[in-house]
Amino acid sequence: MITALRGTVDILPPDTALWQHVEQCARDVFARYGFAEMRTPIFEQTDLFVRSIGDTTDIVEKEMYTFPDRKGRSLTLRPEGTACIVRACLEHKLFAPGKLLKFFYTGPMFRYERPQAGRQRQFHQTGVELFGTYSPLADADVIAMMVHFLEYAGVNKVLVQLNTLGDAESRAAYCTALRAYVMPLFAQLCPDCQRRAERNVLRVLDCKVPSCKAIFSAPNVPRTTTTLSAAAQQHYDAVRRALDALKTPYVEDPRLVRGLDYYTHTIFEVRHGALGAQDALGGGGRYDGLVKQMGGPETGAVGFGIGLERLVIALRGTHTSPHERPPDVALVALDATALQDNLVLAALLRAKGLSVLSNYDLQSVKAQMRQANNAGAAWVILQGEDERSQSLVKLKNMRAGTERLCTLDEAISHLTSSNP
Ligand code: AMP
Repeated sequence: MITALRGTVDILPPDTALWQHVEQCARDVFARYGFAEMRTPIFEQTDLFVRSIGDTTDIVEKEMYTFPDRKGRSLTLRPEGTACIVRACLEHKLFAPGKLLKFFYTGPMFRYERPQAGRQRQFHQTGVELFGTYSPLADADVIAMMVHFLEYAGVNKVLVQLNTLGDAESRAAYCTALRAYVMPLFAQLCPDCQRRAERNVLRVLDCKVPSCKAIFSAPNVPRTTTTLSAAAQQHYDAVRRALDALKTPYVEDPRLVRGLDYYTHTIFEVRHGALGAQDALGGGGRYDGLVKQMGGPETGAVGFGIGLERLVIALRGTHTSPHERPPDVALVALDATALQDNLVLAALLRAKGLSVLSNYDLQSVKAQMRQANNAGAAWVILQGEDERSQSLVKLKNMRAGTERLCTLDEAISHLTSSNP
């Protein structure tokens, strides 16, 4: 038997209804804030991700699905959405001075990670990108929108963690302070962190090795907030004031860093208690340098990505999954002629917008009625020799338990008027 690959998952009904619910909520909420959907390919040139995410990040160093195509070009299955959206905006010349651009996306992402609960190799994210402003109000609005979406989808008690990396100047000062702290501990670090200490010291803060985690959660580890330039401090203060005005609760975590190199200023993560070890539902931040770095104009940008598997897990605990649409009517055939008539009747009712349960093989009336009942059908139409000889059908109201004989036209108009 051929099975699905490790780290990939089939999403089956009735779970798909929960996925559709989440995706619909994303569309509803993001549209209210003026975000339009963008769909980009799931594979891109490898360089796109190496240049944007950063060549010393975990994603680029060890998690990308990279392979040569038949002409030997290096391709990569997208590990995240932001680089793809920036590439598409550049390619389609969407950036223009003073123009706000707002996009969202939903789809599969690929990272070669060790699979566990809430961590897969193919997973799904929905995310947003807002381009064209440096205003801290945009950072706050995007964070508030993320919380709005999660609550609208049915997740409660999310925790927003907030930090700032500051501008280039603050970040460089912080890296110097962090390196000064790390170097005396060099011998105790894991081999990855020893490399990080030299090449990209910020990355040590999200090392998952327990001994490194213990070292970097000590109270005297330098905080990003102590090396902020005056401008970066002002930006951060304004983000917090705006979040307070929006009544979006957050906690500050001055050691929060994110796994991608392109962030500047505000970064945030949203956690949820029901998720266990993998408790980050999503995260994001400002990335003012990325568009320019990818060959475009200087552009202020802020966005986030949310893991849909984890959102679905969080909803399972607190939210009753919306059922798939029960049939408005089930068609019960008492003989083979009725079975054939029902095929045509079902098509007619569906064309009128009703959802119809109907069979291809003849079964006992009892079995068909049980099926209609289990599926939650509101009405049943029964047809057999007796009904046919009188040019009538039997219409049964499943809720009230009543039934009557009527013409097919009467039954149809009754159903369509009671199911507008
Ligand atoms: P990131 O792009 O790394 O900031 O991740 C954003 C969100 O995507 C995380 O908070 C998770 O909810 C989700 N995510 C990231 N990697 C995985 C994965 N391997 N499996 C499932 N969800 C993931």
